[in-house]
Amino acid sequence: MKLNFNMPVRALFEENCVMKHSEIFAQCGASAMIVAGHSSAERCGALSDVETVLTQAGIKYIYFNKVENNPSMETVAEAAKLAKENQVDFIIGIGGGSPIDAAKAIAVLGANDMEVDELFKNQFTKALPIIAIPTTSGTGSEVTPYSVLLSKAKQTKLSFGNQYTFPAFALLDAKYTYSLGREATINTAVDAFTHCFEGYLAKRSTELSNALAIDGIRSFGECIPALLSGEFTEEIRSKLMYVSMLGGMVISHTGVTIAHGMGYCYTFFHDIPHGRANGLLMKEYVNYNYPVVKDKIDYCMETMGLSDISAFGEIMEQLVGKAPSLTDADIDKYTELTLLQKGSISNTAKDLNEERIHKLWEAVRN
Ligand code: NAP
Ligand code: ZN
Repeated sequence: MKLNFNMPVRALFEENCVMKHSEIFAQCGASAMIVAGHSSAERCGALSDVETVLTQAGIKYIYFNKVENNPSMETVAEAAKLAKENQVDFIIGIGGGSPIDAAKAIAVLGANDMEVDELFKNQFTKALPIIAIPTTSGTGSEVTPYSVLLSKAKQTKLSFGNQYTFPAFALLDAKYTYSLGREATINTAVDAFTHCFEGYLAKRSTELSNALAIDGIRSFGECIPALLSGEFTEEIRSKLMYVSMLGGMVISHTGVTIAHGMGYCYTFFHDIPHGRANGLLMKEYVNYNYPVVKDKIDYCMETMGLSDISAFGEIMEQLVGKAPSLTDADIDKYTELTLLQKGSISNTAKDLNEERIHKLWEAVRN
């Protein structure tokens, strides 16, 4: 047994979590920046809960709601400038993975004199405290140190994160996801599942990360009928948020693998949401890794109540649909870009090289 388990986020998960734990905001400082997407923080009710507790505690705040899906380096730089000008003490990220990831970048830039592209060197040793409030059940970003930003120059997504980018607090309340439509609920749930599943199969998996991953995979299996029917009870919403949180804890330790590494091309060039991108690759991902981690994959299928990997492939297709058609030129280009995702490549159970990545793209070309 060899473990190095570090989860420095205080994760609080319950109904009306923000109101019930209002004391944690004053612990982070006297002035805050709320970082959100365009309108979901308002629509789901999280913004009004946060504004209420900040006002009650006498905490000043500014509201930055320009974070786009797949946050850009330009947007986080703009927000960080504002955070510095207003001398904010801490950052509150409300939203899906995009605003929470942006909040992490802003927290680092707000506490250091550095340019946005220096983030990826991961050499900073401080950041403003972050409170993360998820409104999707997908990325688990509220409990990970990772921040994924879109690099227009590199035509892909790049991530950074270290000890200092773990949020101080994660406030999880599934009621904030009730406003999420069916498609977004499915796509984000598939993302959460892939974190558990890829983490479980990853070379960097450990006994402890596997325990968390398997509970996430089991819970996701219990949600499959609801994801197929589109009927999301409060219990299902809560379970999906739990899967997402577990997935975040898993990948904080294991990292992700090649499905994530390849999925970024679908997002960048086809505007496919992150979770759906991973889902589109799942069938071939399983086929590829099966010879090397057969027992582990079979155990996951059984845990989800699925007969075998072909039943899994069918469920994934029902959930996320068909992948886009690709040309030979697309495949060459995506292979080249996938090769930049070195961490995902080295962490995949079955060894990868350029030729194998090319074959994987061929397999999903349609
Ligand atoms: P997202 O990009 O944050 O949001 C997608 C869309 O959902 C937005 O249009 C958003 O609207 C809307 N939305 C969010 N919450 C809603 C709600 N409760 N009701 C209605 N609409 C809502 O989606 P995401 O899948 O959660 O995050 C994806 C990002 O996270 C990607 O950039 C991905 O690379 C990254 N990621 C990060 C990690 C990590 O560990 N940090 C892991 C995996 C993925 P608004 O624009 O109005 O907010
Ligand atoms: Zn993901």
